[in-house]
Amino acid sequence: MQARLLSIFLTVACCVAAAFPCRAADNATALVSETRPLLHTFVQIKTYGRGAAEAVEAAFAEMERINDLLNNYDPRSEVSRINQNAGGKPVAISRETMDALRTALRFGDLTGGALDITIGPLVKLWGFAKDEPGLAGSDPDAAAIGRAKSLVNYRALELDEVQDRGNIVCRARLKKRGMWIDVGAFSKGYVADMAMAMLCARGCASALVSAGGTVCVRGVKPDGSPWTVAVRHPRKDDAYLTFFPLRDAAISTSGDYERFYEKSGARRSHIIDPRSGMPVERMQSVSVIAPRGVDSDALSTAIFVLGEDRGIALVESLPGIEALVVTGDGRIVMSQGWPEKTVVY
Ligand code: AMP
Ligand code: MG
Repeated sequence: MQARLLSIFLTVACCVAAAFPCRAADNATALVSETRPLLHTFVQIKTYGRGAAEAVEAAFAEMERINDLLNNYDPRSEVSRINQNAGGKPVAISRETMDALRTALRFGDLTGGALDITIGPLVKLWGFAKDEPGLAGSDPDAAAIGRAKSLVNYRALELDEVQDRGNIVCRARLKKRGMWIDVGAFSKGYVADMAMAMLCARGCASALVSAGGTVCVRGVKPDGSPWTVAVRHPRKDDAYLTFFPLRDAAISTSGDYERFYEKSGARRSHIIDPRSGMPVERMQSVSVIAPRGVDSDALSTAIFVLGEDRGIALVESLPGIEALVVTGDGRIVMSQGWPEKTVVY
C-alpha cells in the first residue's frame, strides 16, 4: 500500500515537472554564469541565450523572495512566525510556503518519518542551530534528548485553508509550544526549483542552478552537449567519486562533511535521526537523482537517516528516483538505475 502511494506521488511529481516545459531557446549561445552568496551557501546559475542576464537576475530575485518566506533563521520569515506561535493560534502563510510545507510533510510520510521538518529542537540540542556547530559542555543526557524528541513530530504541523471574506487563506500551526520547523533538509531544492521555473518562464531552455548540495539542470547546452554533474568525494576535498551527464532532473547530496564537529573521538554530523534523537554516525554521504530539486533534497537527507538497506529499498520502490550511498566505512551502494556505474572511492 505504502509503495503504491509513493509511486502515485512520484508519478504526479514527474508530471508536474513535465507540465512546465521551457519556451524555445534563443539562438544566441553566449554563456551567462553568476555565483552569489544565498541560502547560507553559494548559489550558481548558468544559462544561455538572448535575455539570459535578465533571466538570471529574475531567478536570483525569486530565490531571495522564497528564501525570505522559508528561512527559519530569519525572525521575519513566515516559517519563523509559525515557530514563534507554536502552541498558539494558526498563522496566515503564502501559497508558496504552504506548498513547500505540504511537500515536506508528504516526504515525512513517504520516508516513515525519517524526514521530519519539526527536527528543530534536536538540531538546537546537538549544537547545529548556529554558524559554527559544536557543544560547549557535555553531551545532552537521555532526559534532555527525550524532552527535545517529544517536540519533534511532523504530524503536529497543521496546515489548512480557510475562507476569509471571499479569499482563501493558507494557515499553519504547530500544536505544541517549543516546536520548531527547520527547513534545512529541503529548502535549497525547493528554492532551486523556483529559480529554474523562473528561467524557463523567461525562455532559458538550457540552464543549471546549483544551490549548496543540490543541482538542477534543464535541457542541453546550445552545442547539443549535456550538462555534467559530479558527486564529490566525502573525505577528499576537490575529488569526485563520479560524474555523468544529466538532463531535466536534479541531484542532491547530503554529507557528514558539510556541518559537523568532533566530540569524544566521533564525528557528529548535522543530520539527526528523529527516532533516536541522535546525530547519524553511520553514513558518509547520500546522493539522490529525482525529477525536481525538492524531491532529491528531501530524499537525500531522509536516506542518510534510513541507512543503505532501507534507503535503497525505498528508492527502488520509487519511479524516477536513484541513489548512491557511501556508508560510514566507505562502501559504495547504488540503486539499480544509477546512471554511472564507475564510482571510485
Ligand atoms: P541536507 O544537507 O539537505 O541533508 O539537510 C541537512 C539539514 O536538515 C540539517 O542541517 C538540519 O537543518 C536538517 N535536518 C537534520 N536532520 C533532519 C531530519 N531527520 N529531517 C529533516 N531535517 C533534518
Ligand atoms: Mg536535503
